Amino acid sequence: DGAIRFENVRFGYDPAREILKGVSFEVPPGKSVAIVGPSGAGKSTISRLLFRFYDVNGGKITIDGQDISAVTQESVRAAIGIVPQDTVLFNDTIAYNIRYGRTDASEEEVVRAAELAQIAGFIEQLPGGFASMVGERGLKLSGGEKQRVAIARTILKAPPILVLDEATSALDTHTEQEIQSALDLVSKNRTTLTIAHRLSTIINSDEILVLKAGEIVERGSHRELLAKS
Ligand code: ADP
Ligand code: ADP
Repeated sequence: DGAIRFENVRFGYDPAREILKGVSFEVPPGKSVAIVGPSGAGKSTISRLLFRFYDVNGGKITIDGQDISAVTQESVRAAIGIVPQDTVLFNDTIAYNIRYGRTDASEEEVVRAAELAQIAGFIEQLPGGFASMVGERGLKLSGGEKQRVAIARTILKAPPILVLDEATSALDTHTEQEIQSALDLVSKNRTTLTIAHRLSTIINSDEILVLKAGEIVERGSHRELLAKS
């Protein structure tokens, strides 16, 4: 549930320089759409607009038919789950970090989410990297492990809409595959917009949009785009 629709969206951080030049697409409920394209094309800008970090200069963005400019930023963000590339964790247990965003969750639900994200082994420990944190429960998490904490949080929150912004990942292949399988699990049958930087991750997308200099220049399934290239 939770369809996303961009209708002829125009936007520039600076009014004199348009970054998105009339972008239209739809992510139907439960489907998965990926945006690919060169660096600077405007991919991350699309996700920032979806989160209402900025308002569009033209056109509109709707979620479930509702113009997002007409609702509060908080309610827009509450409907969307994000698994960002670089997760900032609170200086509290991994379990606390997973529960953040759904404080009503039961212990069982937290453990289940941690299991799915493959971090169940250390949820009572503290994430490392904090100046104040020198206790023996401290744990130095790798980038991949932090990302799995974010995935567990998203599994628990089960938002109607998921945005995956892959940015540049420095994960080793094994970790990447593990994270990918956890992400596949979260995004299954969930309306998902992936800002893709790695082609390996978008094979299962229902539609791929190719964005260049703020315009969608091609769209189709993975197979259709391969046939054209
Ligand atoms: P992509 O995600 O495809 O690499 P972005 O959406 O991050 O592209 O950026 C698109 C363009 O917008 C780039 O030219 C970038 O320099 C510019 N841009 C991004 N963020 C800002 C900002 N906060 N202020 C001004 N320009 C920005
Ligand atoms: P919450 O749990 O606060 O309702 P989320 O868990 O969905 O919200 O997102 C956590 C926070 O991440 C958001 O409130 C927002 O400040 C931040 N965020 C949202 N989108 C992005 C983005 N594209 N890049 C970086 N941070 C983001």
